[in-house]
Amino acid sequence: MQLADYCSDREWKKIKELADTKETPFLVVDLEIIKQKYEELKSVFPAAIVHYALKANPGEPVINLLRDLGSNFDCASIFELNKVLDAGVSPDRISYGNTIKKAAHVKYAYEKGIRLYATDSKSDLQNIAEFAPGSNVFVRILVEGGETAEWPLSRKFGCHPDMAIDLLVQAKQLGLVPYGISFHVGSQQKDIAVWDAALSKVKYMFDWMKYEEGIALQMINMGGGFPANYISEVNTIQTYAQEILRYLKDDHGDDMPTIILEPGRSLVGESGVLVSEVVLISRKSRTDLKRWVYTDVGLFQGLMETMGEAIKYPIYTEKMTDRSNEGNVVLAGPTCDSTDIMYEQANYHLPLNLAVGDRLYWMTTGAYTNSYSSVEFNGFPPLQTYYVD
Ligand SMILES: *Cc1c(COP(=O)(O)O)cnc(C)c1O
Repeated sequence: MQLADYCSDREWKKIKELADTKETPFLVVDLEIIKQKYEELKSVFPAAIVHYALKANPGEPVINLLRDLGSNFDCASIFELNKVLDAGVSPDRISYGNTIKKAAHVKYAYEKGIRLYATDSKSDLQNIAEFAPGSNVFVRILVEGGETAEWPLSRKFGCHPDMAIDLLVQAKQLGLVPYGISFHVGSQQKDIAVWDAALSKVKYMFDWMKYEEGIALQMINMGGGFPANYISEVNTIQTYAQEILRYLKDDHGDDMPTIILEPGRSLVGESGVLVSEVVLISRKSRTDLKRWVYTDVGLFQGLMETMGEAIKYPIYTEKMTDRSNEGNVVLAGPTCDSTDIMYEQANYHLPLNLAVGDRLYWMTTGAYTNSYSSVEFNGFPPLQTYYVD
């Protein structure tokens, strides 16, 4: 890999400063990149309201930055909600986007002023009606996309459009505002056509609600799914926006509903570089072609998304010159758990002269790393994060 494809000189200088002085492992998050990504997203989707999906990186500096840039927030729990409220964000800028929530938490969110809720089931809808009366609700539908998303999110959440229609009708009967429809096409979604298929379901539902039920829905929440730059090539956000806006225009013309986006990965992924150290290099037999490279980060220190080798992070070492001096490796973490192997099938190559103590830099690790790292599995502490700008 080429360092320049993932990291500017400016960022690299800051990362090196920390790498030369701090003990590994740690994550460096460059707030300037998040700012650029947010502004870029707003420029390609000018009419959309952005609700940052906090789970991607719930760090206070990230919340504060996005608050100041005017972003809204999507919370999945009252704990995330408290973080955002503590940062001084007003409740009208926050949605409760998790369809799975305790009645007591709905009540808590309502008391804090939250008036926008996702749902996908009757039982949750009844809780919202009882404990968050009069609120706006949107119903999440099941969509395709599991095949082409590197981290699918589409089976656990959402319901069939016919059921979503029933829920929206019931919402009105229960005194709630049937506000709109949401979907999530799966995270790191590489196939833009998946949005087209999802949006045509939404269009069908908007029409049905209007002509059969006399209810005018007002909002489409398109979730997240936009990609970050890992090993395999992806389209630019401009291309995503161009296509998606065309689908929307085809479906809704001048009668455009409010559009909400909930980006996580695409906003913060490229802001992060995880700095680790090689702890051990070994072979499993005299003739083993692959070296096993054990590092001081693994699935439990933030690399959870390597599970099933789903997300393939670009890895850099300063010993990299060209492919001729590289050999095949298996990469594994430091804990006593055999699931703690990042890449075995994925055919990673690292320099043959790689040695214990060398730094390995995991690029594009700003999303779903520090929030996923364990509290003290095997006694290892949670992933340390330094925010720079
Ligand atoms: C995780 C999540 C997101 C963010 O998805 P990305 O693919 O990281 O952009 C958005 N909305 C909901 C409801 C989510 O669960």
